[in-house]
Amino acid sequence: MQQELIKAEKLKAVEQMGAAISHEIRNPLTAASGFVQLLQDDYLSRQKRKEYLSIVKEELISAERVIQDYLTFAKPSLEAFEELNVKSELRQIINLLQPLANQNSVEVTTDFSVIGFIKGDRQKFRQCFVNVLKNAIESMPNGGYLTITTEYSKNYVTVSVKDTGVGMTIEQLELLGEPFYSTKGKNGTGLGMMVVYSIARAMDGTVWAESEIGVGTTFYFKFPTISSIMKSENIIS
Ligand code: ADP
Ligand code: MG
Repeated sequence: MQQELIKAEKLKAVEQMGAAISHEIRNPLTAASGFVQLLQDDYLSRQKRKEYLSIVKEELISAERVIQDYLTFAKPSLEAFEELNVKSELRQIINLLQPLANQNSVEVTTDFSVIGFIKGDRQKFRQCFVNVLKNAIESMPNGGYLTITTEYSKNYVTVSVKDTGVGMTIEQLELLGEPFYSTKGKNGTGLGMMVVYSIARAMDGTVWAESEIGVGTTFYFKFPTISSIMKSENIIS
């Protein structure tokens, strides 16, 4: 009975979230299609044409951003529980985000002192850390240092993501993970951290953050290990 109730509550939450997300995607798409219609005018000036095209592009990027940040939730929840090599997973995610780091003059350093294995869904693990690393890079628009560290203890793998970015106030820290909470205006969705917390929870992980305005932010993730190979390595990439 209790289980059924929880299920119903969850379903309701998913439905509400689905409606909110559709709205977030539909708005920019409607705007884009409106401007495409205007672009069909043969007598439009070159200047107007350029202006409208750039609006269409912006709106499409905006819709894409929602899908990107939320991707995991849009997928049917077929959980694949695999053995994940934290280190190699993280390395792939870093490679994926290297162009964004370069664009922001962010230097990425890794310190993977051990190979740790955890159990989880690869797709979701990626989604989680793409969002965290993206936020870290975005917090350093004028460059900085991004350090990703993994540590191993008998029962846990800890991943920390440290940036030297703008930092957050205590109030902002508390709002992390609230759907649609963003300080990035048109460039943010406020969905990334909600996805991060939800995925970490699904993997029996815990997340916490430390931050100081003007100094930077560190996110910590702690996941239960399934097995671990003790091997010390220090890699700077
Ligand atoms: P978005 O990135 O679209 O704004 P998120 O849910 O990913 O949404 O993040 C919510 C907010 O949390 C961000 O707008 C930002 O204010 C804050 N935030 C998250 N990570 C960091 C970070 N590493 N440094 C500073 N602020 C951060
Ligand atoms: Mg984000």
